Amino acid sequence: MIAKTEIFDLPLEVISNERLSRSVNVIALRAPELAPRFKAGQFLEIKTSDSLFPLLRRPFSAHRVSDGTIEIMNKVVGVGTRALYDVEAGEKLQTLAPLGNAFGYDKTDFDLAILISGGIGVAPMAMLEDALRARGKEVLNIVGARTAEELVARHLSNVRLATDDGTAGFKGNVVELFEKLLPSLESKRLRAFACGPNPMLNALSKFCNARAIPCEVSIESTMGCGVGICYGCPIRVRDSSGKMRYELLCQYGSVVDAREIVFDE
Ligand SMILES: Cc1cc2nc3c(=O)[nH]c(=O)nc-3n(C[C@H](O)[C@H](O)[C@H](O)COP(=O)(O)OP(=O)(O)OC[C@H]3O[C@@H](n4cnc5c(N)ncnc54)[C@H](O)[C@@H]3O)c2cc1C
Repeated sequence: MIAKTEIFDLPLEVISNERLSRSVNVIALRAPELAPRFKAGQFLEIKTSDSLFPLLRRPFSAHRVSDGTIEIMNKVVGVGTRALYDVEAGEKLQTLAPLGNAFGYDKTDFDLAILISGGIGVAPMAMLEDALRARGKEVLNIVGARTAEELVARHLSNVRLATDDGTAGFKGNVVELFEKLLPSLESKRLRAFACGPNPMLNALSKFCNARAIPCEVSIESTMGCGVGICYGCPIRVRDSSGKMRYELLCQYGSVVDAREIVFDE
């Protein structure tokens, strides 16, 4: 699954910055060279400020791609994501892309794609849904967050919601909701595509593996350079014989087969 795409380092102009809430925004970047090369699941490494701090770029999934434009969805958690919340149209963001592998939307072993996202893990799902629908696949979105206020389901269709506190949709997490919906879905050939916090991806991977449901998880843990130089994003994977080894998330993923990934418990 190692990505073999040509990588560009370009100053991309901010076309717009739409603030969806007090902590989540969507930035549209003018990127005519990059947009046609992007596949759903791939990411960009963005320098969030012109100054030396923060020095390292930050990784963001492509949220949507169209007509020479790439959108990212940003959730404020620290200094870099705060800077991206505040950017204005006309500013330029130095960006390395496209990076990483893609979701397996071209696979032919499924008819119904279950897109399962938690929190800001919803970011890559709009582009993935577009790619799946263009290939005639049926799509069901299961979108979860801690509370109704944190739910984002922008540009997604056929959505079921889950919140930990029950303020919107199903009360519980996305894996529990998937379990509840599964009896009504099992007549179809399923493939799950997921993105969210690692505990959610861990629970989902175990759930799918136990039921032989093919599942791919896009992992958003801490990453440094994004190109395999800094060795700052090790993940553990196991082969079919159970033997474990380390890989770099930025080189091996960020999309990894649920049967391979080994999360820290
Ligand atoms: C492949 C990939 C794709 C991603 N896509 C998106 C996306 O589409 N939208 C989005 O909003 N975020 C995404 N992320 C996460 C995003 O890169 C981080 O939230 C960001 O790097 C944090 O930078 P910061 O400077 O704001 O935080 P910092 O100031 O560096 O850290 C603030 C706090 O956040 C924690 N933190 C930092 N990075 C992460 C992380 N990756 N996961 C959990 N906690 C973290 C730190 O430990 C610290 O507690 C993605 C990450 C990866 C690896």
